[in-house]
Amino acid sequence: DKTPVTVIGLGLMGRVLAQAFLDAGHPTTVWNRTPEKAADLVARGAKQAATVAEAVEAGPLTIICVLTHDSVEDVLAAAGGSIAGRTIVNLTNGTPEQARKAEALAAGSEYLDGGIMAVPQMIAKPGALILYSGHPDAFERYRETFEVLAEARYLGDDAGRAALYDLAMLSAMYGMYGGFAHALAMVRAEGVSATEFEPYVSGWLQAMFQTLPAAAAQVDSGDFVTDVSSLAMNDTAFPNFIEASRALGLRPDVLLPMRDLIRRAVEAGHGADSVIRIVDMIPENS
Ligand code: NDP
Repeated sequence: DKTPVTVIGLGLMGRVLAQAFLDAGHPTTVWNRTPEKAADLVARGAKQAATVAEAVEAGPLTIICVLTHDSVEDVLAAAGGSIAGRTIVNLTNGTPEQARKAEALAAGSEYLDGGIMAVPQMIAKPGALILYSGHPDAFERYRETFEVLAEARYLGDDAGRAALYDLAMLSAMYGMYGGFAHALAMVRAEGVSATEFEPYVSGWLQAMFQTLPAAAAQVDSGDFVTDVSSLAMNDTAFPNFIEASRALGLRPDVLLPMRDLIRRAVEAGHGADSVIRIVDMIPENS
C-alpha cells in the first residue's frame, strides 16, 4: 500500500530517485524527454509513461527533477490540467524566485519545491538531506514517502525558502572549496602534495566549524565583541596571504574578495569587532 510515485526527469539524479522508490516498494511511473533512458528502470519494475500528462495521472504524487527552471516550465506546460488536485514536488535546482514562479505555474496542484543536499550516490543513505517548502498539507501527507530518498525537512509555506537555503548552503560550500583550492595551490608550488597537506586543512576546518554557532549568534544579536580575533588584526595580516601567493606565482583571486570585505569593515569603524561582522558589508547598499 505504498503511495504510487511519478518521477519526471531521469538524469543522474532523477534515475536514482526513481530507483530508491522502486527499492522501497513504491509503484513508480517514470517519464524522460529522451525515452531510452528509462529502459533500466523499466527492467526493474518501473512503468514508463508516453507523455508527461500520462505520467502525472498515474498517481497522486509527482516529483520533477530536470536540469533547469526552463525545463520545469516545459514539463509543467506539457502536464497541462493533469496536475489539478495532485501534489507536484519540484526538486530541480533553482532560485527562490523560480520556485515561486513554478508554484504559480502549477496552480491547482499542491506544490512543493525542494533542494537536494546530496549527490546521487548519497540518495537513500544516511547523511542525505532534502529541503522542502510550499504546501504544508502536501508535505505532511507524503513525509514518509520523502524519507525514502533522504532526511526530509520542511521550511515553511514560502515555496522559495528551500531554494534560498539550498543556494546559501552551496555558497558556503563554494567558499570552502575556493579556499581549499588556493591552499593546495600554495603548498603544491613548493612541492608538497595535496594528499600530504589535506589532513592539516581538514583538522583546521573542523576546529573552525566549532566557531560557527557563536558567529551566527553574533550576527543575530548585533554584538560583535570578540576576544578571539579582531577585524583590525585580520586586516593587518591579510597582505601576507596575498604577497606569499604572488611570490609563489599564484593569482590571489580567491583571497581578494575576503580582503576587501575586511578592509571595508575596518574603514567603517568595526576594527575591534569579530570577523563575521563582514556579513554587514555584503549588502549592496553597505
Ligand atoms: P542531468 O544533466 O544528468 O539530467 C538532466 C535531466 O533533465 C535529463 O533527464 C534531461 O532529459 C532533463 N531535461 C533537460 N531539459 C529538459 C526539458 N526542456 N524538458 C524535459 N526534460 C529536460 O542532471 P542531474 O540529474 O544531475 O540534475 C537534475 C537536477 O538535480 C538539476 O537541477 C541539478 O541541479 C539537481 N541536483 C543534482 C545533483 C547531482 O549531484 N547530480 C545534486 C543536487 C541537485 P534528457 O535525458 O532528455 O536530456
